[in-house]
Amino acid sequence: MMRDPDEDILERLSPPSPEEAVRRDARLTGDLGCQAQKLPELERFVEWFADAQGPQAKYERLLTWLGTFQRMGLRAFFQGLLTQYEMLAKDRKVIEQAARDVDRRYSSRVRFRTVGHVNGSYLTRLKKFRKFLAVAKQVIAKGKPIGTTACPVVGGFKLVNAGGFSPNVMRVVEDVVSQASKSMRDVGIESVIYGDINVVGSLRRGKALAHYDVPQDAVFIRANLRGRVGPAVRTVVHELAHRLEKMLSNPYALTRLYHDIQEEDEDNTERAIADRSLWPDPGFTFGDDGKWEVTSVEKRGRGEPRVRVRNRFDHRTGYYPMARFLKATGNLHASFVTEYARKNPSENFAEMVAAWCADELSDRDEARLLKAISEGLGA
Ligand SMILES: [Zn+2]
Repeated sequence: MMRDPDEDILERLSPPSPEEAVRRDARLTGDLGCQAQKLPELERFVEWFADAQGPQAKYERLLTWLGTFQRMGLRAFFQGLLTQYEMLAKDRKVIEQAARDVDRRYSSRVRFRTVGHVNGSYLTRLKKFRKFLAVAKQVIAKGKPIGTTACPVVGGFKLVNAGGFSPNVMRVVEDVVSQASKSMRDVGIESVIYGDINVVGSLRRGKALAHYDVPQDAVFIRANLRGRVGPAVRTVVHELAHRLEKMLSNPYALTRLYHDIQEEDEDNTERAIADRSLWPDPGFTFGDDGKWEVTSVEKRGRGEPRVRVRNRFDHRTGYYPMARFLKATGNLHASFVTEYARKNPSENFAEMVAAWCADELSDRDEARLLKAISEGLGA
């Protein structure tokens, strides 16, 4: 397996003890300190480069420089600070911003017309990064490692409040975690229930409610879940299914499961499309308030037939490929448990486990999921 450069830093940031964490982080911050001291030099170099090559080249240098920071695993570093240190609310804000900011991709297609414009952009970034580093150092110097405060154990997980969230906010998270844990125990997958769940302000994938980081074997959950308990429970189970997947000694079992379902899905689709008794007559209406009216069915050559439609209210016209029409009218059911499950064997597995724990899986799917798990375990 290729080693992710982030991994070394992640290892350094997942400490066996708070004391060890402080020692390791001090070393890492030391490295960053050196890096920060080199910045003025870099600035002069960029100046020189811009004079020689023009503003666009200067912007590209800036991108390279930011890329270096990303490769250093700075996101993991800042995220590590958030999960390991108690800090003042104002510092937390800065570190959260840092964790997001170092991860952002910068477009290389931005065009700058003047050197002044580039200088402005460059100096703004530089100032920001210096501030991030300064606050990070401060947090480590005066902060208390989070492990020193008691964390509640919920449903077999230790909940780490990595954002200084209020008891009310934490109560909602506790509810989500305890429901997720119970639903997994109920179906008998207890092996994934261990370790910490880090409660954080924001996740790398912006809108996600929870995230499982494979190399760290770490679970993160968003703090603000009010009104989204149901989807959050499902997401936590989905993410822990990725942990279960990591425990399987035979990953081909999940590939086989995926291909079985994919094949079945294709067969069903093909059969439904070919069944002319399912094709609509002109005048058939469907959709919200029956807004779509079928005007004709078009069949050209070997391609999928098209259902031509007209919107009865605003008179727009268009067409549905037959398979989509049949799905929209309930005459064709996807074999995948969700649309997202189509993505790949791994996501299909996680989606199936989530549906299983929510008691929404058909007997047939439950049977093939169980078979895949036992094959995966080498049983
Ligand atoms: Zn997933």
